[in-house]
Amino acid sequence: MDFFPTDSENEYKLLSHLGPEPTPGQLSPMDLANSLRGRRTPIKSALLDQRIVAGLGNIYVSEILHRSGVSPRRTAANVAGRSGISKRVEKLTYNTHEVITEAIDSGGSTLQDFRGVDGDDALGYFPHSFGVYGREGEKCTKSECDGVIRRIVQSNRSTFYCPGCQN
Ligand SMILES: [Zn+2]
Repeated sequence: MDFFPTDSENEYKLLSHLGPEPTPGQLSPMDLANSLRGRRTPIKSALLDQRIVAGLGNIYVSEILHRSGVSPRRTAANVAGRSGISKRVEKLTYNTHEVITEAIDSGGSTLQDFRGVDGDDALGYFPHSFGVYGREGEKCTKSECDGVIRRIVQSNRSTFYCPGCQN
């Protein structure tokens, strides 16, 4: 484990290969498209990769994929497409900004506040407003969808998703 003062984050060498923060000013659809392109890993695992986007936890990634209607099983390469910015990348970027902004608004003043060591714990914020996380066996929370939420395990982490509206 390493300790460092939070104001020296940018200079800290172990953090220098981190991807952009998931906030509107930092993560752009082009960044995301370029980072995902060509990767065979599932999109779920790619979004958890700190080199692609810094600080997205497991719960948030499930929520972002659900809102975006993107299956967690789809490969990163497939989501990105061959060139430019795909519709899926556009949605993922938009929903990443939205989920993070909501998380900050509902309790944390900075990203640091809700970034747990594991990504699953340490979340005091909006736990009751998850649309998909922790809802295995329940009806999808989207009013227009009749799907039932499933849980699968990817890279040793739980993924919750709706086969009805995420494809
Ligand atoms: Zn659904």
